[in-house]
Amino acid sequence: MAQLLHLVTHSLYSNPEIFLRELISNASDACDKLRFEGINNGALYENDPDLHVRITLDKDHKTITISDNGIGLTESEAIDNLGTIAKSGTKDFMSKLTGDQKNDAQLIGQFGVGFYSGFIVADKITVESRRAGEPASNGVRWISGGTGDFDVEQISKETRGTDIILHLRDDAVEYLEAWKVKQIVNKYSDHISLPIQMRKEVWQEAEEGSDEQGKMVMTDEWETINSASALWTRNKKDISEEQYTEFYKQFSHDFEAPLAWSHNRVEGSTEYTQLLYIPAKAPHDLFTREQKSGIKLYVKRVFIMDEAENLMPSYLRFVKGIIDSADLPLNVSRELLQESKDVRTIREGNARRVLGLLDTMAKSEDKEQQDKFATFYKEFGAVLKEGLGEDFGNKDKIAKLLRFASTNTDDVTVSFADYKANMKDGQDAIYYLTAESLAAAKNSPQLELFKKKGIEVLLMTDRVDEWALNFLTDFDGTPLQSVAKGAVDLGKLQDEEEKKAAETAAETLKPTLEKLSSSLKDKAKEVRVTTRLVDSPACLVVGDQDLSPQLVRMLKQAGQ
Ligand code: ADP
Ligand code: MG
Repeated sequence: MAQLLHLVTHSLYSNPEIFLRELISNASDACDKLRFEGINNGALYENDPDLHVRITLDKDHKTITISDNGIGLTESEAIDNLGTIAKSGTKDFMSKLTGDQKNDAQLIGQFGVGFYSGFIVADKITVESRRAGEPASNGVRWISGGTGDFDVEQISKETRGTDIILHLRDDAVEYLEAWKVKQIVNKYSDHISLPIQMRKEVWQEAEEGSDEQGKMVMTDEWETINSASALWTRNKKDISEEQYTEFYKQFSHDFEAPLAWSHNRVEGSTEYTQLLYIPAKAPHDLFTREQKSGIKLYVKRVFIMDEAENLMPSYLRFVKGIIDSADLPLNVSRELLQESKDVRTIREGNARRVLGLLDTMAKSEDKEQQDKFATFYKEFGAVLKEGLGEDFGNKDKIAKLLRFASTNTDDVTVSFADYKANMKDGQDAIYYLTAESLAAAKNSPQLELFKKKGIEVLLMTDRVDEWALNFLTDFDGTPLQSVAKGAVDLGKLQDEEEKKAAETAAETLKPTLEKLSSSLKDKAKEVRVTTRLVDSPACLVVGDQDLSPQLVRMLKQAGQ
């Protein structure tokens, strides 16, 4: 534990000020939870309905206190939630640390060790809390020096919610300056929808005739230092790129800036606001079954749930963002979400929006946009392909975004449209080959004839290709044809001579074919003469309607 904490605080050390972002974000989460529970139990507000976060600086004691009047913690919640790091994933987390600061920082974000970031600047943290609805005497005090141990005692606390008191280390006293704290809040937490408040400071002139100089003195009055409106509720033109980026980093726990985003207020029969981001990097669990949706659902600005499935099709599960619905009931449950017509409309709207965003990126003449699309495709191309099978209505839009290597280039850059533009006269199909790797694809005997004739073949090496391509029979009217299936008919591209030669060969080699057929009878459905080979004596193909060996292997692995 001590070692892990050391790692965490040190890998975040290059950016120590994020501790404030993390603690404010926790305070805001706590208020969201109160709002949510308060929907069904108004008594939890205890006649103190104005939720806020307050930051108090105490130069004499070298403490900075972040207080909220949110849901609060019971003693056992404090023990369970504050005393553990990276929760269940600790071991997994340790094994993934690379020593590379940027990488590790991102991991730390994903595993959510936000509270512990307080130890970047503090050598001791005291948490005082009382859960909403509990009597004052049921408060808790939790103290830790950041080495994994902590002490807990019961205290009396009049006000609901949590105070996080950081006892600053000597090298972190700069955070006792109000201007510094305001600057950080402005940078990271301006979009938090709650008011973040500090004691108002006023300038006090020195007394006439005295040697002393004027100074700032603290008053009893609270002053709100952020805009206190949820970012997505604001007008697009009032939000800077930096604000969009910071907002993304904060809610997604990603340390890298997003590639692109789309922010819209959708009106019509279903009204909602969507703010959707495309990350620059795939999470480590993108392909595991537990991979959760990255969408947070709000209803009229009240936070309802994280990881709201159903609001985004599964093949776009890498998208992170916020949906704020004007129509769903506040007490909407996951079950209800599954059946809601509004949810379906939102999901379809989201898919359209994301595909549109990607299309704009892909089509752009701008080098920066093109690079972004390449990054996107490298990270998420394989997931996007799942959409061919999953989202029938958008199949063509998805197909347009796909890129492959080919017999002309190892780079995964050839689109179906590029391919079509490069087709030979008389060619009437898009040829492709799926394989385990690019090397295997390039050396496949199936390609011999195509190479000889200079016909480009798309080379597909993602595991999902075989399955996904089953759902795509043509692109823009041109059929797709696997070169590893059935008898490849090159149609007009084949000359008469070749056809003749094949027919004669089939005749003269009849006894050989029969012999091969009978000795391979349990292994091969048919043995036949082919014109598809140039150098190799033989190759294996599957029937037009059969599953390829690749796909059979994949389905077996998936337990089907
Ligand atoms: P995360 O926010 O990702 O859950 P953190 O390490 O930031 O992880 O916080 C750990 C947990 O501690 C939170 O999930 C919450 O249960 C609890 N917690 C932290 N700060 C507060 C707070 N101000 N009020 C109530 N609970 C809190
Ligand atoms: Mg947190």
